[in-house]
Amino acid sequence: MTDKYNVIFILGGPGAGKGTQCNKIVKEFGFVHLSAGDLLRAERNEPDSEFGEEIAQHIKNGSIVPVAITCSLLKREMKRSKENDDKDFFLIDGFPRNNDNLDGWNSEMSGLVNLKSVLVFDCPKKVCVDRCLERGKTSGRTDDNKTSLEKRIQTFTDSTMPVIEYYRRENLVNEVSAERPEDEVFEDVKRIIQKIQSENNS
Ligand code: UDP
Ligand code: MG
Repeated sequence: MTDKYNVIFILGGPGAGKGTQCNKIVKEFGFVHLSAGDLLRAERNEPDSEFGEEIAQHIKNGSIVPVAITCSLLKREMKRSKENDDKDFFLIDGFPRNNDNLDGWNSEMSGLVNLKSVLVFDCPKKVCVDRCLERGKTSGRTDDNKTSLEKRIQTFTDSTMPVIEYYRRENLVNEVSAERPEDEVFEDVKRIIQKIQSENNS
């Protein structure tokens, strides 16, 4: 028995399909989906937020918001889900994105969390960019444009890949090839999660 939060980190380039696959996982397995980007966008849109402007700049630049902000939003939501809905299994989507995120998370959260896996969606850059540009036609996001995307891809390569490599050395990475139709990708995702669950119960 444990009363820790169970967590799967979901990582991959912009447009790799993290949010889409998380929605499918939620339907099938009932976990709670926490998109760090969505939480930051919501905080940015709060008229009274003291961090709104700082967050807005980072999102548009494709750079990374200081971990104290992101981590506190994630922690607040995890606490709320556990207290209000008795949910304790979380998909944390789009985090940790760099070493600062990793260090901040580890010092604040590692004692409260069972990290089950880091699920990585592997997708060629060109496909990622094309998907985001397509999404940009209707998403209303300030960063689904060519200039922001170049920076986001660069940030992913320079800052997020080392985090993935860190977790790979910890034997926590499960990788899925994401350049396929979403249902096909989900078949692989489902198998991985079922395996994680069976290890959980054994
Ligand atoms: N972001 C951040 N820290 C996070 C998650 C997101 O700073 O932990 C910011 C960052 O500027 C990023 C943007 O939010 O480029 C959009 O992130 P999101 O995860 O929504 O984009 P996705 O990767 O899903 O396309
Ligand atoms: Mg997303």
